[in-house]
Amino acid sequence: MISDRMKNLHPYVPGEQPKDRVYIKLNANENPYPPSPLVTKTVKKAAKEYGSKMALYPDPDSNELKAAVARMLNETGGVLARAELSGGRKNGSGSRVSPSEGDRIPFTVTPDMIYCGNGSDEVLSFVFYAFFSSDRPVVLPEHTYSFYPVYAGFYNIPMNKIPLNSDWTINTDKMLSEAHKTDSGIIFANPNAPTGLSISREEVRKMLENAPADKVFVVDEAYVDFGGESCIPLLKDFKNLLIVRTFSKSLCGAGMRLGYAVASPELIGHITTVKNSLNHFPVDFISQQAGIASCADAGYYAECARSVAFERDEFIDFLREKGWYVTDSSTNFVFCRKDGVNGEAAYRKIKEQGILVRHFATPGIEEYLRITIGTHEQMRSLRNAMKDL
Ligand SMILES: *Cc1c(COP(=O)(O)O)cnc(C)c1O
Repeated sequence: MISDRMKNLHPYVPGEQPKDRVYIKLNANENPYPPSPLVTKTVKKAAKEYGSKMALYPDPDSNELKAAVARMLNETGGVLARAELSGGRKNGSGSRVSPSEGDRIPFTVTPDMIYCGNGSDEVLSFVFYAFFSSDRPVVLPEHTYSFYPVYAGFYNIPMNKIPLNSDWTINTDKMLSEAHKTDSGIIFANPNAPTGLSISREEVRKMLENAPADKVFVVDEAYVDFGGESCIPLLKDFKNLLIVRTFSKSLCGAGMRLGYAVASPELIGHITTVKNSLNHFPVDFISQQAGIASCADAGYYAECARSVAFERDEFIDFLREKGWYVTDSSTNFVFCRKDGVNGEAAYRKIKEQGILVRHFATPGIEEYLRITIGTHEQMRSLRNAMKDL
């Protein structure tokens, strides 16, 4: 009864969302803070004053949202944790925001360089469809966001998975030499998941200078706002660079399902063609409104990103004092293991104390836990749950 294509489907398994008990949820890299009050207000207003708009199709291309995203990127430089705040209230709401010196984008990001979709997972799926094909492998790290292999299977795209270095960093030389052998495109997350490690913009520049120029080079910046370096400035020099970002992590909006790509208008046009061939209206009216409001309060999210980064660094210190090996995370999660502690057993012991973290049964990382950074209170409970492990 099923098609041959179905045999290539190996669905992604997300972090569990249990209903049986209220857990502290540190297993899906969601943001522990709610969206900006401006977002809640806007959504309420949209439902009340423009409720009838829900009887109509939304803007198929989210034009106002694209403009809002472009404005936010220019305003913040694309890394919230380092954005500079002035004026405004203490929680950041209403603050004026400007990029830190090192994050300044040397051109203006325009709305035609943005594509908005139903979560960055959907954007990524369209990117795989538009730019990678069955005639040559896409080059990616062995351990990276586990949805990439799922899409490769879905679209029947072969993969060339490059092992990470022994310190968990991406082996950029090997990725490039392999990409050259088959004249292939490349994809990786920077910062990478689940390792939390990032490479600098200059390292990515060197990669781009040596990668096949006529193949698309994708950098997934889902976590960059927590302290990595954005590659948006490199768009000026590399027409094959495509950056994917999301509202789900640093913009406290996993439930809004909003993600976007930043690239040359030409590449954005191709993703739009895929979209218009599958689902004309991936972003609903309310999500467009919520997204526009989010982008208007970057100061609030900059404060959230800083709190997360602060808690992360405290937690890394705690783990290292307790004898854990922890990578240098520039994200909203940590990747850690301890000699003599089985990864799966540690996950279960922490769960017994009411806290969910993520354990992957994937060979090579099965001794590790990936733990999302929560609020100060949540991290205190977590330290308590882990102090005797
Ligand atoms: C969370 C995550 C995504 C998906 O985000 P959504 O916008 O919620 O679909 C994409 N890439 C990476 C690396 C992620 O961690």
